[in-house]
Amino acid sequence: MTGLCDSFQRPINYLRISVTDRCNLRCVYCMPAEGIRQMSHQDILTYEEIYTVVQAAAELGINKIRLTGGEPLVRLGLSKLVGMLKQIDTIDDISLTTNGTLLSRYAAELKQAGLKRVNISLDTLKPDKFKLITRSSYELSDVLEGIDAARSAGLNPAKINVVVMAGINEDEVLDFANKSLNEEWYERFIEFMPTAGVNNAALHFVSVSDIRKRLEQLGELEPCLPRVGNGPAKYFRFDNGRGNVGFISPVSEHFCFRCNRLRLTADGKLRPCLLSDDEVDLKQPLRRGISSTELKKLIEIAVTSKPLRHRLAEGHIPEERPMTQVGG
Ligand code: SAM
Repeated sequence: MTGLCDSFQRPINYLRISVTDRCNLRCVYCMPAEGIRQMSHQDILTYEEIYTVVQAAAELGINKIRLTGGEPLVRLGLSKLVGMLKQIDTIDDISLTTNGTLLSRYAAELKQAGLKRVNISLDTLKPDKFKLITRSSYELSDVLEGIDAARSAGLNPAKINVVVMAGINEDEVLDFANKSLNEEWYERFIEFMPTAGVNNAALHFVSVSDIRKRLEQLGELEPCLPRVGNGPAKYFRFDNGRGNVGFISPVSEHFCFRCNRLRLTADGKLRPCLLSDDEVDLKQPLRRGISSTELKKLIEIAVTSKPLRHRLAEGHIPEERPMTQVGG
């Protein structure tokens, strides 16, 4: 087989890059209210360094990139990075995960630079609850404007990521699903994962099977076939629905056997698994002037050390980094 393959014969072709650890929201499930100790600018990979890593990864077989954070749009000049990565011939898909608050400002220039698609995190359709969950000065309307701007710019389909939490927003799953019935909304309901730095005990998990049962009050859910992409979501559509709904079940039914990803943190660590603290440092070697061949060897080491699966079910919660530093 050509391309990258891990020790369990999983092909690895997808790199998620966290371009910053900073975020303009403080979502209850992702970050402590007081924020996290921020990395210094020097700690963070420059766009040129990110480009060097992606170029080496692309030569090994990575062809899909997702930019994430922190909030990627708080880093200045993100479109410049998109444009740089777009120059790498074998990268055929560049996408973005954002909280949407700044998207209305940047959607058109990102599209022009070569961004294909965008996922927008939005956990509520209620203005008051938006404040409660995000603990920020931003408004729900900022995100809704961002979603509109993404669609107008042609960043389609704009998928909406909803982390469902008991007692917080579980009462809104039908409101979200109604949107996918009546409008071209593409939503993905995500199970809450316990993670470093947040008050996990105060956040209560709702399983995908529970969410699905609730949605079935609106009608039968037909699987979208053929299966869309190689990602973690399983997609369904209501009869006559204009959009679709996806379910992502990292906790109740892990999908590690299909994992095709590596993650690059803002401070230049390659992370083979979202939910394990093992990392391979690329920043110091890059700054020491490592050759492309040596860089590729480090990427291969990270790929080879990908664990078979995460161990959340056994109580292994990553301790080192909050989700905002890893990028989700
Ligand atoms: N700021 C961007 C955003 O809000 O989409 C990108 C970074 S955020 C860490 C990436 C994704 O991780 C979001 O869709 C978010 O909902 C998800 N996420 C963060 N913490 C999570 C948790 N504890 N469980 C499940 N998903 C989580």
